[in-house]
Amino acid sequence: MSEKQTLGFQAEVKQLLQLMIHSLYSNKEIFLRELISNASDASDKLRFEAINNAALYEDDAELSIKVSFDKTARTITISDNGIGMSKEDAIAHLGTIAKSGTKEFFGKLSGDQQKDAAMIGQFGVGFYSGFIVADRITVESRRAGLPASEGVRWESEGSGDFSVETIAKANRGTDIILHLREGEDEFLSAWKLKSVIRTYSDHISLPIKMQKEEWDEEKKEQVSRDELETVNQASALWARSKSDITAEQYDEFYKHISHDFGAPLAHTHNRVEGRSDYTQLLYIPARAPFDLWDRNKRGGIKLYVKRVFIMDDAEQLMPVYLRFVKGVIDSNDLPLNVSREILQESRDIKAIRDGSTKRVLGMLEDLANADGDDAQEKKDKYATFWKEFGQVLKEGIGEDATNKDRIAKLLRFASTHNDSDAQNVSLADYLSRAKEGQDKIYYVTAESYATAKNSPHLEIFRKKGVEVLLLTDRVDEWMLSFLTEFEGKELASVAKGGLDLGTLEDEAEKKQHEETETEFKDLVEKMKAALTEKAKDVRVTFRLTDSPACLVADEHDLSGNLARMLKAAGQ
Ligand code: ADP
Ligand code: MG
Repeated sequence: MSEKQTLGFQAEVKQLLQLMIHSLYSNKEIFLRELISNASDASDKLRFEAINNAALYEDDAELSIKVSFDKTARTITISDNGIGMSKEDAIAHLGTIAKSGTKEFFGKLSGDQQKDAAMIGQFGVGFYSGFIVADRITVESRRAGLPASEGVRWESEGSGDFSVETIAKANRGTDIILHLREGEDEFLSAWKLKSVIRTYSDHISLPIKMQKEEWDEEKKEQVSRDELETVNQASALWARSKSDITAEQYDEFYKHISHDFGAPLAHTHNRVEGRSDYTQLLYIPARAPFDLWDRNKRGGIKLYVKRVFIMDDAEQLMPVYLRFVKGVIDSNDLPLNVSREILQESRDIKAIRDGSTKRVLGMLEDLANADGDDAQEKKDKYATFWKEFGQVLKEGIGEDATNKDRIAKLLRFASTHNDSDAQNVSLADYLSRAKEGQDKIYYVTAESYATAKNSPHLEIFRKKGVEVLLLTDRVDEWMLSFLTEFEGKELASVAKGGLDLGTLEDEAEKKQHEETETEFKDLVEKMKAALTEKAKDVRVTFRLTDSPACLVADEHDLSGNLARMLKAAGQ
C-alpha cells in the first residue's frame, strides 16, 4: 500500500469551490443531480469500452447507480459500477478543471456575487457541487480492468487541497461519500432523496436504486428493508414517446447532456424512419458557451447506437455553423464499433446530418415566424437566439448552399429604419418597406454601429427615405460574398461603384446631374491627374448631401472595411 499524498487544487478549482458554495446554496439539492449525472456518464463510458473488451465487465454487467444514506455517520453515498478511476485519473479529474474556456470564464468573473452565481451555473458545477452540502468528500474508486489492489481513495474538505492513497477495492466503479455539513440533515431521508432524484434525474437511462423502506407499526417509524427498489423510470428519455415527457423532464435532460445549468430555448424530438432509422433530440441553448468562436471545437451531439453510448461531440452529425446545438442522436443502423473515421465516410451519417440540419432550421423558423398565443414569447426567444448565435448562423450562408435560402430568411440586421443597434430587421421586413421601383437591398458595412450609422454614404438614402441595413459583424463581409441576392433583389453596398439609384431618381434629377457633370469636367480631370498614384478614379457624386467628398470602392474591389480587416489580420 502506498503512502498517502497531499496535493493542492488548481487555482481555478479553489475559486470555483468558494464561489459555488456561497452562490448556489439556495439551489443546493442540485449536487445529487451532478453526482448521478457523473455516475451515468461513467457507465456510458464503460459500455462503450466494453464493446471491444467484454472482460471489463468482470461478471458484473448489470449497470446501475445506488444512492444510500447513513443517519448515524451523517453520510450520503452515490455508487456506480461504471468505468471508475485510477489514481492518476482521480488526481487529474478531481483536482483540476480540464474544460475548454476555463481561462476565459475565470477572467470574466466580476466579484459581484449575484452576477457570478449566474455565470457559474452556465459554466457547469459538476463534481465540486458536492461541497455545497458536504464539508468532506471521500471518493473510493477502481478503474475497470485494474486489479482489486489498485483502487484509490481521494479525500478533501474542499478548501485548498486533497489527499490520495492506494486502497484495495473489490468492486469496479466509484463510491462518492458525502460527509454532510452541520444543518444538512434533511438529506438523511429516503423520502427527500427520492423526491430530488425524481425531479432532476428521472431521465437517467440506468436504474437509480435505493433501499426500500417500510412502516414499522411497533417502532412507529420507517425502517429499511434488505431490498432495493428503482426510483426513476430508467429508460432512455429520447426513446420514450413525446406525450409521456414533461417540459421539465426535457429541460433536465438537456442540463444532463449539455452540462449547462440553465434551461434551453427550444427542442425538437423526432423518430425518423426510412432510408436511415434514427431518433433525434436536439436543443438550442439559451446562452453561447465561452468557446463558441473556436471552430475546431467539436459539436455538442452525443451519438448512441441502439441506446448504447458511442461518443460525445460527434462533429459529423451537425454542420460547423450549427455547432451550438446540443442533443442526442440514436441510430438503429450503424454498427456498434463505429469510429470517427467511419463516420466521416458513412452515407447514413450524411443522411442523418442533412435531416438534423433541416430540423434545427425548422426549430429556428418556428421561433422566428411564430404566430398564435405564444408568438411574443417565441419571438423573444428568437431575439435571444440571434444575440447569442446569430453570427455563427451567418457562417451557414457560405457553408450550406442547399439551405442558403432558408438561412437567409433567418438573418436579422440593424437598419436605418430602427435607429438602434438591435439586430432585428429581416430581409423580408426590409423588402416590405422598399420604395416603389427600388430593385436593390442596400447595406453599408463598418467596424461598428456608430461608424455605420454616421457613414457619409447614407446621406442620399436618408434624403430619399430609402432604408439601409447596417452591417457591423466581422463575418458580414465574408457572408455577403455568398449572399448576393434575396428574392430576386440584388444586395448592393452603398459604398461601392457608381451608385445607381435606378428608377428612384426622377427625370429632372437625371438631367440636372448630367449638367453638373459637364460643368465640373475640367476640375475632375485636374484632380485625376493630381491623384494618379492615390485614386483609381475621380467622379462627381450625387450621393452626398452634407459631406464634401468621400472614398468609394470599385464595384469589384474589396470594400474599404474588408480591406482594413485583412490588413489587421496581417494579409
Ligand atoms: P464533467 O462531468 O463536466 O466532466 P465533473 O466535475 O462533474 O465534470 O467531473 C469531472 C470528471 O471527474 C469527470 O469528467 C470524470 O472524468 C471524473 N468523474 C467524476 N465522477 C466520476 C464517476 N462517478 N466515475 C468516473 N469518473 C468520474
Ligand atoms: Mg459532471
